[in-house]
Amino acid sequence: NPPTHIKNEQVKPFTNTDTKDWDLLRASIMKFKSSSLEVPLVINGERIYYNNSNRSVFAQSNPACHKQVLANVTQATELDVKDAIQAAKEAKSKWYQLPFYDRAAVFLKAADLISTKYRYDMLAATMLGQGKNVYQAEIDCITELSDFFRFNVKYAHDLYNLQPVQSAQGVWNKAEYRPLEGFIYAVSPFNFTAIAANLIGAPALMGNTVIWKPSQSAALSNYLLLTVLEEAGLPKGVINFVPGDPILVTDQLLASKEFGGLHFTGSTQVFKQLYGKIQTGVVNGLYRDYPRIVGETGGKNFHLIHKSANIPNAVFSTIRGAFEFQGQKCSATSRLYIPQSKSEEFFRDLIGTLQQQKVTPVNTAASPISGGDLHGFMGPVIHEQSYNKLIKVIEEAKTDPELEIIYGGQYDKGEGWFVGPTIIKCKDPKHKFMTTEFFGPILSVYEYPDNKFSETCDLIDQTSMYGLTGSVFAKDREAINLADEKLKFSCGNFYINDKCTGAVVAQQWFGGARMSGTDDKSGGPSILNRFVSIRNTKENF
Ligand code: GLU
Repeated sequence: NPPTHIKNEQVKPFTNTDTKDWDLLRASIMKFKSSSLEVPLVINGERIYYNNSNRSVFAQSNPACHKQVLANVTQATELDVKDAIQAAKEAKSKWYQLPFYDRAAVFLKAADLISTKYRYDMLAATMLGQGKNVYQAEIDCITELSDFFRFNVKYAHDLYNLQPVQSAQGVWNKAEYRPLEGFIYAVSPFNFTAIAANLIGAPALMGNTVIWKPSQSAALSNYLLLTVLEEAGLPKGVINFVPGDPILVTDQLLASKEFGGLHFTGSTQVFKQLYGKIQTGVVNGLYRDYPRIVGETGGKNFHLIHKSANIPNAVFSTIRGAFEFQGQKCSATSRLYIPQSKSEEFFRDLIGTLQQQKVTPVNTAASPISGGDLHGFMGPVIHEQSYNKLIKVIEEAKTDPELEIIYGGQYDKGEGWFVGPTIIKCKDPKHKFMTTEFFGPILSVYEYPDNKFSETCDLIDQTSMYGLTGSVFAKDREAINLADEKLKFSCGNFYINDKCTGAVVAQQWFGGARMSGTDDKSGGPSILNRFVSIRNTKENF
């Protein structure tokens, strides 16, 4: 039967800290805090640990308390990568020949395990390792993650049942959705455990086998995810887990004849490099096929406020869009265009609200949480490199006469990697601060003359090297329509009177074009098409 019952998983409200949910969550947090977990490589279902071997180890620490090591992550060697290629090759035919429903069952079961038995462990691992509060972790590693698994099953079912429209009399035409030949290389980022789940889950569901390089900074939650998939029945070798040095792992995988496709989320810079290497490989006749390249990368996402906008809504949406999860989302609001006449009111409200917020180590058991309100909603940035990069940006803003920090600019690394929310006004709308992605809690602002709304739309489009997300805030329908038309190609996710973050699986298919990626839309049906290769059969009777 078609899986018609599939619905979005509901966010559990962790509002009352006295509940049993909190007790269970605290217990999971304490478990992960009390000793570092040994995270192995998993190749062909076998665990490989660095102890007693020549492998090195990476210490994943808690970004809110950098002295605390959460996981010792074994690093893959060249030989391990070779073994992973072999494992993916050997597991392939048995996996894709399973009836679709058997493959789907693994992901449906995993989604159920994550939203029940492993909910608290998944939350704790994501909160501690990736610097999230419980609300942010819920919408990531519980709801979005299980939604990806469940809706992919629904969309795959629809795709498999799509057949050629016509068969002339005496003829039977058939479309067969084969997996790609070769393995899929999945490269996942730290910021969403759910994204990792989709990067491995979408190709595997379609019968592909996968070699997965997780972000080192998310190894704890990502390894837990793999163990849940195994408990749900994932056969050996279908997803091979190889954390390690990105260059070592990537170069070897892209140099293999068995490489069939890339499923990537991460920085634009890295994606461009991989894209270039794959193209060179194609030109040099390295691969059997033209590898499929599916990538979601950076953004410099905009909020455009019209003079007719509901200001409190625009303020609240901007705070969440720009600063929730410390702005570490590809979709985060990172540039804002405000009419001159509204600027004072807007920033008075916004700064007033921000001043009541604290940047806190939100991932401790005792920390407050955020839901609809903003209480205690910011935590650390992910690691030292990110911290250093962001403070350099802030220091540059302090000395550039074209820029003015109107709020924030503080940072502190005493215990964790804390960077406060920072707002920077730019005199020149083409200044690099209006076009460069910082991937942190820094919002660049340009005040435009009230009567230049249309020109500001053009300006946004011209300065959109990326094309991921953007929002317009207006009550005036003509303004909305104008922005809708003029910003047609400036983003892949366009929001009207809402923040430009927080796409929900199956509701807002997520992804952008230009330098933001291949716009194959995670959380929608089209991405699954990228991981199949169709054989069309005609039979005469
Ligand atoms: N899908 C997320 C959102 O809509 C962002 C994902 C990302 O940061 O890559 O906010």
